Amino acid sequence: MKHQLIHIRELTKTYRISTGLFRGKHDLRAVNGVTLEVEQGTVFGLVGESGCGKTTLSKLLLGLEQRTGGEILFNNRPTESIPRRDLARHIQPVFQDPYSSLNPRKSVASIISLPLKVHRVGTMVDWSRRVQEIMDVVGLPPRLANSYPGQLSGGQRQRVAVARALIMHPDVVVCDEPTSALDVSVQSQILNMLMDLRSELGLTYILISHNLSVVEHMASRVAVMYLGRIVEEAPTATLFRSPHHPYTRALLDSVLTPEPEKGLPENHLGIAYPDPIDPPPGCTFHPRCPCAQDVCRKIPPCPVNIGNHMVECHFPLNNSTPKYN
Ligand code: SF4
Repeated sequence: MKHQLIHIRELTKTYRISTGLFRGKHDLRAVNGVTLEVEQGTVFGLVGESGCGKTTLSKLLLGLEQRTGGEILFNNRPTESIPRRDLARHIQPVFQDPYSSLNPRKSVASIISLPLKVHRVGTMVDWSRRVQEIMDVVGLPPRLANSYPGQLSGGQRQRVAVARALIMHPDVVVCDEPTSALDVSVQSQILNMLMDLRSELGLTYILISHNLSVVEHMASRVAVMYLGRIVEEAPTATLFRSPHHPYTRALLDSVLTPEPEKGLPENHLGIAYPDPIDPPPGCTFHPRCPCAQDVCRKIPPCPVNIGNHMVECHFPLNNSTPKYN
């Protein structure tokens, strides 16, 4: 029977930021009313451009940021009622850059065993045994236990980061761009390892990426984020086969360009990502949307559910050729 391990309801995170000496302070709504559910044992993909709020959402999940509104439930329990230390036993991160997330002065064994020490789990003898076990699980040879991060390859460093995340046997791993800092040649090794570990250990992943190809390969469900909101969410195969939101269609087009890292194709979206401090009225995507109508410039769209496919657009079934206004 399906079990929704994480419920996020109307989650909001607003930062009060200064924009200059004489311009005062402004609100930046990094996460703006996000609602979603993550099923146990699945991979939930979260995609969008830089600055769309996906990393802020992951920090809220990990308890590294305090929400402004809404709620997050883990196993039907509000995360704010779970002590930070206990939450860390259940939800662990793997960050993008293994170069900066590992302490260069600590040995591999010391880095991997750190969560056990912080949470006072077991004895020194247990730590050594569990480090060896988890190194074996992530494919690190025992001889590297006394090495330092600077002596490892990028792929080995990311395996150390995964080992550190898994040593507490978490239920959920938040993978924030887990391979984007790695050479292309080792990216697939790390992704395949993550998928093997998910099925072996029964893990749930929240996979954050700007790379739709990675998400298509790994996730069973995908949410597309734009200016702090989920604008489309569906089972992966459905979303890739039949994207309903113009922004998702543009993202998919950018994957098909020879250099997807250059971002969205100009011919579809024209202008740059809007200033999140001063978002456009109505549908915040309207200045870039080839399908925008008058209503889009005035009234924000509400989420529409078409079966198990959610889209936040005034014209959710308009899959025709974009109308350029
Ligand atoms: Fe485009 Fe209008 Fe839909 Fe927004 S609501 S995505 S502007 S068609």
